[in-house]
Amino acid sequence: MNKNNILIPAQEVPILREAEVVVAGGGIAGLAAAIASARCGAKTLLIERYGCLGGTVSGVPMKWVGGYNATIHGGIMAELIDKLRQADGIIREFYNENVSGYMVGMYIDIFKAVALKMLEDAGAELLLHTLITDVVSEGREITGLVVENKSGRQVILGKRFIDATGDGDVAARAGAAYWKGDEESGKMQAMTHYGPVLEGVDNEVLLDYMLKYKDKYPEEIVEWSTDLPRFSFAGFSRLLKDSREKGIIHMNYDCIWISGEIGTNRVTIDGSFIPFVDGTNVLDLTYAETESIKQITSFVSFIRQNFPGFENSHRKDRGGFSIGVRETRRVMGEYLLTEEDILQGKKFLDGIGCNCTPMDIHSSRGHQSWTQVKTYDIPYRCLISATIDNLFMAGRCISATHKALASIRFIPCCVITGQAAGTAAALTAKRNVSLKKLDTNKLLTELKKQGAILKASNV
Ligand SMILES: Cc1cc2nc3c(=O)[nH]c(=O)nc-3n(C[C@H](O)[C@H](O)[C@H](O)COP(=O)(O)OP(=O)(O)OC[C@H]3O[C@@H](n4cnc5c(N)ncnc54)[C@H](O)[C@@H]3O)c2cc1C
Repeated sequence: MNKNNILIPAQEVPILREAEVVVAGGGIAGLAAAIASARCGAKTLLIERYGCLGGTVSGVPMKWVGGYNATIHGGIMAELIDKLRQADGIIREFYNENVSGYMVGMYIDIFKAVALKMLEDAGAELLLHTLITDVVSEGREITGLVVENKSGRQVILGKRFIDATGDGDVAARAGAAYWKGDEESGKMQAMTHYGPVLEGVDNEVLLDYMLKYKDKYPEEIVEWSTDLPRFSFAGFSRLLKDSREKGIIHMNYDCIWISGEIGTNRVTIDGSFIPFVDGTNVLDLTYAETESIKQITSFVSFIRQNFPGFENSHRKDRGGFSIGVRETRRVMGEYLLTEEDILQGKKFLDGIGCNCTPMDIHSSRGHQSWTQVKTYDIPYRCLISATIDNLFMAGRCISATHKALASIRFIPCCVITGQAAGTAAALTAKRNVSLKKLDTNKLLTELKKQGAILKASNV
């Protein structure tokens, strides 16, 4: 045995639950997967490490559904938006060419309540505050997940497992093949924690100053929107770079986003950026989490001291509770979705849904690159592990290249892959069919019945 390791004694562990479909991770993809599976009649259990649903959406918090397009994203995604509308859970929605669709802002607390209701109405069981730490396997199949929580260590048995942990944790513990990062450098997209709301801001004074600033230094402003009463702008690279080099400000990214609304005294400020980190490494996660707090504290104080309108401002909570991880493991499936597929708008006979959000890469060099794509299909084969026979993937850990992930990671596509994985898991569990042998026409017919939009299917 390696002298840096210790041997933990074997332990008898209680079986807490047994389900037909076990969904690992209650982010937006896991939520859709569990709803779809339970609606198809499978006994479904969703396991989540935090105390709420939503994952990145609730934790970062990431309140903007990006690139939502009702002619492309149907099914549970459209239903969620409708239910949010009915619950007064939408802050605002507007068309944004950059994301080839609508940006839909959600009130996160209302989102959490709506998500929970949809899950419960579907009949899925939920286990919160529970971390999946390992798997029990037999040959190429997972038979159970080992979990840890306040009650101790337990096992959850299942027939089909859906890895919606974002990080491919279940796949990795099961020994499935996966990739991480850019194919050449291995680097993953940078992490970000969304910035805080400041109250007590004189927005008229701020906007007046910004208009003059933009006239004087047009090259300093990279984004500008005055869809009054709402406004948002981003940039200030020279100012930030100079201040960073003089040690006045602690930042990695020479760009700050400020957005607000005339008539209110509130603005939101964003700008934390943590490159060269790996969201599957606990030391990196600890660094990113603490570093984002330092960056946010620094640029908020810088803005309050240097921009007019902030003299009487004070900082509100940032609302989230976790650093935002854009990219980690991508689990190898029966098909690898590539940048070329997306750029060409490729159609597949086993396409379980479509997407058109751009490839949005926050690279480790501190730059954001946007590449527009054509509407493309996501094949069923990207959702089934190539190496573990009863494992599906949903959300940002499906089988895709680094660049393809940059498009599929938007919320609408994560919901689409979740709904398809949940439906396929229930169908295969109920009919005792292997994942690879599932008749995809039956899957597509079922998805269509659920309101999913399938452009290239033959059903
Ligand atoms: C900073 C940032 C900005 C973004 N901006 C936008 C945007 O403007 N618009 C947009 O549409 N998208 C945006 N995205 C992308 C989008 O929010 C995410 O890609 C998407 O929410 C991922 O959903 P998911 O369910 O696949 O994964 P996650 O949200 O990562 O969910 C995974 C879930 O699994 C749980 N989990 C993980 N490991 C375990 C374990 N071992 N045991 C138990 N539970 C576990 C987690 O707690 C989490 O709830 C952004 C992402 C980030 C980080």
